[in-house]
Amino acid sequence: ARLAAQNRRAPKVHLAGGVYIDANENPMGPSPLACTACEEMTRNGGRYRTDLQVDLVKYFAAQEGLKPEYVMVYAGSSEPLHYTVLAYTGPGKSFVTADPGYEAGLMASKMSGAKVVKVPLKADHSHDVKAMLAQAPDAGVFYICNPNNPTGTTTPRADIEYLLANKPKDSILLIDEAYIHLSDAPPCLDMAAADKDVIVLRTFSKVYGMAGLRCGFAIGRPDLVAKVQAYNGWNSMPVTSVAAARASLADKNLVPERKKIITDVRNETFAWLSSNNYEFIPSVTNCFMVQTNRPGKIVIDAMAAKNVYIGRVWPIMPTWVRVTVGTRPEMQQFQATFKQVMDSSVT
Ligand code: PLP
Repeated sequence: ARLAAQNRRAPKVHLAGGVYIDANENPMGPSPLACTACEEMTRNGGRYRTDLQVDLVKYFAAQEGLKPEYVMVYAGSSEPLHYTVLAYTGPGKSFVTADPGYEAGLMASKMSGAKVVKVPLKADHSHDVKAMLAQAPDAGVFYICNPNNPTGTTTPRADIEYLLANKPKDSILLIDEAYIHLSDAPPCLDMAAADKDVIVLRTFSKVYGMAGLRCGFAIGRPDLVAKVQAYNGWNSMPVTSVAAARASLADKNLVPERKKIITDVRNETFAWLSSNNYEFIPSVTNCFMVQTNRPGKIVIDAMAAKNVYIGRVWPIMPTWVRVTVGTRPEMQQFQATFKQVMDSSVT
């Protein structure tokens, strides 16, 4: 219980007028159609309604050319991420991840007793699949976050295929596609459909703006996802989130419209950073890393004191901070505050 409490995120109080660009959320929130579907579903909240889950899975599977038995639905992608690491790592079955990378799997590795192998990203910020293979002959899970959090950069499909072709026999690839809709990177759902040792994670938290409503999928060969699902028992999804997810998938323009908005605001921010000679990693998602040339925490705290809340620092890049792409006005406030802090804080 103590470990679980430590793993829980710190409570986040939202202050009026605060700019929250710290957690890779989508400031647009759920789409209007998703909100209506969710509100109308509230009155069914007294029932388990697993039939609605089945309908959501079938709809997604049909859209993606998958068989429904390859798709499991969860309250976000954190759950299946955690369960997959519990199911496929342990003593003698390492968890292999990129550095910097999304850290949730590290917590699950602590619980499974697995060794963690952190492999630095390549100079182009893609996963170094050859080093991942070389450093972990006892791998249980290769975690590939594509695009990667926190860098917002992609790993070429050919590298993922190389990893799949050369991995140890009993290991799996856990491909986290939380940000895939925001990039032009080719998804890897076809690998799961082709019965490879691959589990793909999808979430409604990012492009669909449902981080607080919670819905996501684990996609893989039925025997692979069954081991993941075993950790979920007879749990059931909130009917409201299933309704919002279903409405989001049916909304054909949602992804392209939002991708364009986020891309435009991100690129405007990059243009500003460049014109002010700030170094950043050219992300293709809704977050990016910017160089502060001092311990990043100093800048994070100084900005928070001005009501602008940016993301965290990764130990391997101690002078860089992660920033989420907010709305255009929020990013204007980010720019003004970042410049003030960079001009004034101690180096
Ligand atoms: N995977 C990645 C790469 C993430 O960045 C996040 C959230 O930030 C998650 C998974 C978990 O998100 P959720 O549980 O809301 O789907």
